Amino acid sequence: MKYVDEFRDPEKAQTLAKEIRQLVSRIERAKQRPLQIMEVCGGHTHTIFRYGIQQLLPDAVEFVHGPGCPVCVLPMGRVDDCVALAERDDVIFTTFGDAMRVPGSKKSLLKAKADGADVRMVYSPLDALKIARLNPDREVIFFGLGFETTMPSTAMTVLQARAQNVGNFSLFCNHITIIPTIKAILDSPDLHLDGFLGPGHVSMVIGTRPYDFIARHYRKPVTVAGFEPLDVLQSMWMVLRQIAEGRCEVENQYGRIVPEDGNAQALSAVTRVFEMREFFEWRGLGSIDHSGVRVREAFAAFDAERKFAVPNVKIADPKACQCGEVLKGVIKPHQCKVFGTACTPESPLGSLMVSSEGACAAYYHYGRIDTSRIDARRSARQAAGAANAEAVAGCLGAAGATAAAPPLIANTVAASTARGVT
Ligand code: SF4
Repeated sequence: MKYVDEFRDPEKAQTLAKEIRQLVSRIERAKQRPLQIMEVCGGHTHTIFRYGIQQLLPDAVEFVHGPGCPVCVLPMGRVDDCVALAERDDVIFTTFGDAMRVPGSKKSLLKAKADGADVRMVYSPLDALKIARLNPDREVIFFGLGFETTMPSTAMTVLQARAQNVGNFSLFCNHITIIPTIKAILDSPDLHLDGFLGPGHVSMVIGTRPYDFIARHYRKPVTVAGFEPLDVLQSMWMVLRQIAEGRCEVENQYGRIVPEDGNAQALSAVTRVFEMREFFEWRGLGSIDHSGVRVREAFAAFDAERKFAVPNVKIADPKACQCGEVLKGVIKPHQCKVFGTACTPESPLGSLMVSSEGACAAYYHYGRIDTSRIDARRSARQAAGAANAEAVAGCLGAAGATAAAPPLIANTVAASTARGVT
């Protein structure tokens, strides 16, 4: 396949949808309740809505939207920290565009810019480094945000800043890791998932091995998935095939991009510059152990948190906001009390309405979904809650669901050492 259109072929999509229907008809569990498959990544959520993939699937299969949109999980307190840094007279604050509109407790970065702060949108951390070189009399801070996908480019930029001796460049590090978050979701008593579409971009960096614990200890099938409509449909078919055959494995549909062992160079840069934080606060999900990274002591001169006084105040989300429940897949976006009323893309109350990868923004922009059908299914499922719990317990089997997921950096160091990468 050479052209992107071939990944959007309607005939092939219909063929896959038919195969999925046949597979589902063979799964006993699907006759009692809808199978819940979490797409971890916001990019998948966007594809599902943009191309109407949920409508192609039988009622017995339901997507649960996961927490894989880094802008969406940024807590309000960290946005306030950004604003405090940006409003310093000596600072040029640089950020990716989708973080500009995330609401803080008082204002967003966009509002801070309107109020006079020097906030500049960049397309890469290297743009920020260039701004620092061009403005030696100002402090330039880059807002580092994202999962393992964007971590390597930030790490490489810090390494370049040190190599080029750019002393007025620093990083406000908010990078987060996907594995502890998936584990927190798997341990959540509110959710009973049947399988995962694994994140494609993150896996390009970390590979597929870090997901082994999901299949081995939690007995859930995982398929690492690409982002085109046929990728998502084929990945769903692969997860369902595992369920139908009673298998729990990690499969890789996105093999054209994702290597099993990840990207050794990228991982090496990440481990040189970053170390795990003991815990990191997530919007709506609370504090999750070892779910974020900070700049290592060796690079302290490039760490905005060490260089400047960052308020670091914890701020609770507004009461009306149900982002956490949506992030955990407990409710659908349209079931939030303020969806489309007090919270819209033009005037977002929660961060899931801001980013193009946010589940609420996807529902709002591509809201072709038949919500009455979803609501009816959810009511039926809630009524059958006790029966579901029994079925899920049966699926977990003797292995149970209490295994610990090793933190990514620890994994990475171990894997890198094994491959001779330092
Ligand atoms: S509608 Fe707004 S407040 Fe509600 S969950 Fe979505 S982003 Fe959060």
